[in-house]
Amino acid sequence: MAWSKIVGHRPWIDAFAEVVRRRRLAHAYLFVGPQGVGKRLFARELAKALLCEKATPEKFEACDACAACQLVDAGTHPDFFLVGKPEDKNEMPVETMRELCGNFSLKSSRGHGKVGLLDDADDLNEESANCFLKTLEEPPPGSIFILLCTSLEGQLPTIRSRCQTIRFAPLTASETKEVLTRQELADPALLPRLLHLASGSPGRALELADPAIWEARNFVLKGLAQPKIDAVGLGKHVAEFAEDAGKETVLHRQRAYRLLRLLVQAWQDAARFTVGGEPPSADAEDARLLQSLAGGRSPETFLSMMERSLEAETQIGRYIQLGLVLEGLMESWAQILERGRKEA
Ligand SMILES: [Zn+2]
Repeated sequence: MAWSKIVGHRPWIDAFAEVVRRRRLAHAYLFVGPQGVGKRLFARELAKALLCEKATPEKFEACDACAACQLVDAGTHPDFFLVGKPEDKNEMPVETMRELCGNFSLKSSRGHGKVGLLDDADDLNEESANCFLKTLEEPPPGSIFILLCTSLEGQLPTIRSRCQTIRFAPLTASETKEVLTRQELADPALLPRLLHLASGSPGRALELADPAIWEARNFVLKGLAQPKIDAVGLGKHVAEFAEDAGKETVLHRQRAYRLLRLLVQAWQDAARFTVGGEPPSADAEDARLLQSLAGGRSPETFLSMMERSLEAETQIGRYIQLGLVLEGLMESWAQILERGRKEA
């Protein structure tokens, strides 16, 4: 039942079942892999199976029905701790780790050990990692930590050496499709486009399932396809669009990043057109739009567009005022496209 929620990663399900059957579970695991491939979902199912009051070493799977399973689902299991970096912070605060360690100093409430799931292990700094080391090394008997991160190289050696590494690969195209078709998309017509963007990471693709972001993307592409580009108007439009995401500036930045991801994909598709290729899965109208942007320009033009986008992303990450960043980006994109036409 429960493991069937996980698409892909079958070898790891079998490996954990085997390790539990042989009672050889390590006390800390580092799940490494790209964002959106299902690491967190896997970790939750693993936590549930460990805490489940019906699961046995011979049948290692959460039952989804016992009190423990229901408490994990509700986010109120007293022995399950899910912690991560607050959205408005760049690094993991030491207080977060101190609190997690404090919780592990007490005995398991329901007698099945404790599970700590640490999201964003990429963002541990020296201080927050150091505070965590002793508990990570010697958690109370029967307790385990699962740390999620995107790169092994980015981990501090002190953390790495205390964890067993489990690598999560991107999903195959058919697995990705399976995950996306299981979701209720606000606009089902987006499915082929999301598949095109996913590259094995359905979670990342699902972040782009909001039809409003696609509308904004189309607005920008149409604006940039005009013979005379109104860069200032475009900049204002996208800045307002980002600010419409909600009150918090973290939401504005998040929306801007997502829009940029769609636009970078559009530049990749346009670059493919310049060398006679066809972008997979774009609809006819969209293909015509990209083709008109590509027309008479070279692939280098679109490489410059992508580079300039990366620069804007870096600026957003440095908390430079979003409106300025986006207006500057539209201005540069307009210039690059105009230059591209002259050079061709
Ligand atoms: Zn259960």
